[in-house]
Amino acid sequence: MNKEHLWHPFTQMKDYNDSDPLIIERGEGIMLYDVQGRAYYDGFSSVWLNVHGHNVPELNQAITEQLGRVAHSTLLGMANVPAIELAEKLVGITPEGLNKVFYSDSGATGVEIAIKMAFQYWHNKGIRGKTKFITMNQAYHGDTIGAVSVGAIPLYHDVFRPMLFSSHVIPYPYAYRHEGGETKALEATLTALRNLLETRADEIAALIVEPIVQGAGGIILMPPGCLSQMARLCREHGVLLIADEVATGFGRTGAMFACELEDVSPDLMVIGKGLTGGYLPVAATLATDEVYEAFYADYQEQKTFFHGHSYTGNPLGCAVALASLKLFEERNMVEGVRAKASFVEHKLAALKDRPHVGEIRQKGLMIGIELVRDKVTREPYDWSDRIGVRTSQRARELGMLTRPLGNVIVFIPPLASSEAELDAMINILTESIRQVTEGG
Ligand code: PMP
Repeated sequence: MNKEHLWHPFTQMKDYNDSDPLIIERGEGIMLYDVQGRAYYDGFSSVWLNVHGHNVPELNQAITEQLGRVAHSTLLGMANVPAIELAEKLVGITPEGLNKVFYSDSGATGVEIAIKMAFQYWHNKGIRGKTKFITMNQAYHGDTIGAVSVGAIPLYHDVFRPMLFSSHVIPYPYAYRHEGGETKALEATLTALRNLLETRADEIAALIVEPIVQGAGGIILMPPGCLSQMARLCREHGVLLIADEVATGFGRTGAMFACELEDVSPDLMVIGKGLTGGYLPVAATLATDEVYEAFYADYQEQKTFFHGHSYTGNPLGCAVALASLKLFEERNMVEGVRAKASFVEHKLAALKDRPHVGEIRQKGLMIGIELVRDKVTREPYDWSDRIGVRTSQRARELGMLTRPLGNVIVFIPPLASSEAELDAMINILTESIRQVTEGG
């Protein structure tokens, strides 16, 4: 029935239908169990969002209690208690200045909202012509049309180009693949941004960026100072900064939000994934008072933000998000991530010596391992080698789930993973990489 009726996301169904499908029945802690009862470590946090593990009593209880009140109402013309309480909480934990919360239901919709808000912000202020966006090479912001328009991964996005609005793309500082290394890579990014802003700031509404770690592009870390300098340039040239913290938010990088790592306060910030602990589809776009006030006017002035989704501010989702944030506090999750990150870094060091491990990139518990055909020349494997897919497949056979990004093996474990569990997962990763790239 799965092969007959389900069309899986980001999946070549011909490959999938030839494979042995994995069908999950239940989860417990950081383990997932399939319908045959086989156990797997959730080594990519069920697509980078699980925080506290699966089947967590506190989170289950929050949903059950809210279910006994109301499953869904709407934010169109009314409110609900969990949505209000969560908004207040989010304002308290996000970077300085973000005081307004606009809910949606996925990272992509959160990005759409940020883009539309930035666009209409300038319109409402009577400044016409600031209609374009700057994005970064290999950026990924979700799969809806606006999010794809500010996306820059050719494999995913190029087919749709004719239907998209065009964006300015500046280079991402990918030090490992830049001839001049980190310093030159950073310089190239900042120069491109500065040139664009000096010549065309009057056409540009905002820069959208994945702060500190570019996720789907290959878990690529910005050189230190990059984000803060980009933020400063935007501010100097009157261009809004949109931080897409969908993947990096909620402790993942060792700070509650990656922007904190360089003390950056964006004008708009998108959060999703880990917001509900990975339980339910709630996302949010946070805005500064400055942005909000551009929309605040008499109805006749036509400055209203006409945007909203049926499930916006869903009470079950907001209730579980509140319970998740409570666990963050009670369990000192962010500090825990930093301690676990050092453990992981230490343990992964052994992998560096393997003949096909090109680079290990890590920020907190967000890790990418780039496999290369030739370690000296850094020659990549061909796409057709499917090295990432094969390594992930082997990891699954050995009892751990992950999903590769081309030749980059992703290791994004639930934040709640214990050291023993991290140790076991890294052993599986190491063994899968060894078997697939070195044979045996
Ligand atoms: N932005 C970033 C940085 C992401 O990593 C993702 C998802 N991987 C999204 C946006 C889109 O989120 P969603 O899949 O919830 O639409």
